[in-house]
Amino acid sequence: SEERSLNFLEQIIEEDIANGVNGGRVHTRFPPEPNGYLHIGHAKSICLNFGLAQKYNGLTNLRFDDTNPVKEDVEYVESIMEDVKWMGFQWNEVLFASDYFDQLYIYAETLIQKGLAYVDESTPEQIATFKGTPTTVGKPTPARSRSVEENLQLFREMKDGKHPDGAMVLRAKVDLASPNMLLRDPIMYRIKHAHHHRTGDKWCIYPMYDFAHGQSDSIEKITHSVCTLEFIPHRPLYDWFIKELDIFPSHQYEFARLNLSYTVMSKRKLLQLVQEGTVTGWDDPRMPTISGFRRKGYTAASIREFCERIGIAKRDNLIDLSLLEFCIREELNKTANRVMAVLDPIKLVITNYEAGKTEILNGENNPEDPNGGSREIPFSNTLYIEREDFMENPPKKFFRLGVGLSVRLKHAYIVKCESFEKDENGNVTTIYCSYIPESKSGSDTSGINVKGTIHWVSAAHAETAEVRLYDRLFKVENPAAEEGDFKDFINPDSLHIVEKAYIEPALAKAQLGDRFQFLRKGYFAVDPDSKPGALVFNRTVTLKDTWAK
Ligand code: ATP
Ligand code: MG
Ligand code: MG
Repeated sequence: SEERSLNFLEQIIEEDIANGVNGGRVHTRFPPEPNGYLHIGHAKSICLNFGLAQKYNGLTNLRFDDTNPVKEDVEYVESIMEDVKWMGFQWNEVLFASDYFDQLYIYAETLIQKGLAYVDESTPEQIATFKGTPTTVGKPTPARSRSVEENLQLFREMKDGKHPDGAMVLRAKVDLASPNMLLRDPIMYRIKHAHHHRTGDKWCIYPMYDFAHGQSDSIEKITHSVCTLEFIPHRPLYDWFIKELDIFPSHQYEFARLNLSYTVMSKRKLLQLVQEGTVTGWDDPRMPTISGFRRKGYTAASIREFCERIGIAKRDNLIDLSLLEFCIREELNKTANRVMAVLDPIKLVITNYEAGKTEILNGENNPEDPNGGSREIPFSNTLYIEREDFMENPPKKFFRLGVGLSVRLKHAYIVKCESFEKDENGNVTTIYCSYIPESKSGSDTSGINVKGTIHWVSAAHAETAEVRLYDRLFKVENPAAEEGDFKDFINPDSLHIVEKAYIEPALAKAQLGDRFQFLRKGYFAVDPDSKPGALVFNRTVTLKDTWAK
């Protein structure tokens, strides 16, 4: 692979190693909240965190950031583990932030005891008013001067369920004059009488992100805690808690989140698409989820390659979907066997070929792969070809079929169109051709040159399959940036189902995980909806490269 210069995180890590920081140890974490399936943005974070640890002989923890009891679910925990493994990475440990609830509680009492945290029963509106605005100085609420003893007692009452949801919060006593509003006595704990997917009903107070995340990093002795840019203003708070608690000094670094064109990346929005039935599930091949791309036929290697190519940015940007498509197309070009499938059939009869005869032709599987081998393809006098490969009134330079025009049938013979038939509605039903016996592929002595080659399947030998063709899920490049409801920008034609495509018989043995190039139609993968004798193929990507380098 190409040499590239170090990204800014690699530079920081190499400097840390050179300076013997943490004994040169590198320990990262990937911290998803189990409130949805992972998307391609998470894939970027996975490649980054696990990739850095791999490169510097370090470790990566998979930590579920499960401090919010309401939206989290075991289904998500399992799908996340499956997706990380599928991406090709091995975690050091699977951990849950909720396992630290006892420790975090002790940390909170420590801060209360140091006079650095207080219980505040002000309403959210009062708290906001007292905090002021970035250009004014905040004012203390009456609770700020409470004694340590009283704070401890109230906090214990909060923990013991003596107060209803919202009655009071625990706040850190940081700096009400800070221009960074996050430092104006941020909330550490709130009361939530809610069942947690792991701790059950043990807790009715739950820590806020800012109090849980850095402390979890520190408990795990994470050296480089990488997150997205919107957490830059949280960093002083991250450092403040660690300093005041005098615990292992993890450090936070920020990079730009991945945004991909023609889709949305927020789990809240993706969940809405699932719940409202806009898509068939989190793994619908139109979803930007890892499981959606997998089902569509993407490989983990192509997604890793994509993440490598986009690199690590420090400014937010929108990455072109066509780059991701380029990555999978490039891989499948090397690895996928070429086969023939007709999606919109029209009958072609060869009038001078013996009726009822079957000839077995040999088809090279992959011209890009010398070890790709070949397969047998039955040929006969009645074939299916694509409807679009015939025109009643072909324009000049139409190098396919029309009366008087010739093409090569891939792996077979040159045929010339003599006539055609229509039904009562004017639709062409059958075209009649003659073939040139000396023009067989591989032993062509006809001396005839034709410009076009088309794919086909023998009607008597063909099997059928359902084929699903996908288009982008949204009509606009950046739905998240549009005014109004993001669902107004959904592409109504993102799925086209071909219920009965004709496939060459060798394809009938295809299994889940198999990927093919359907000649001239794109790359296709077997969908898990397939049943014996009823295959379903998803188009992973078209053949046309729209990525402009
Ligand atoms: P969402 O807004 O979709 O809920 P999130 O950041 O809340 O995203 P988490 O489950 O907390 O989702 O994310 C786990 C990790 O993945 C975090 O470290 C987060 O920074 C990272 N991550 C999430 N989305 C992206 C993205 N689009 N690009 C890069 N990293 C991301
Ligand atoms: Mg998050
Ligand atoms: Mg989130």
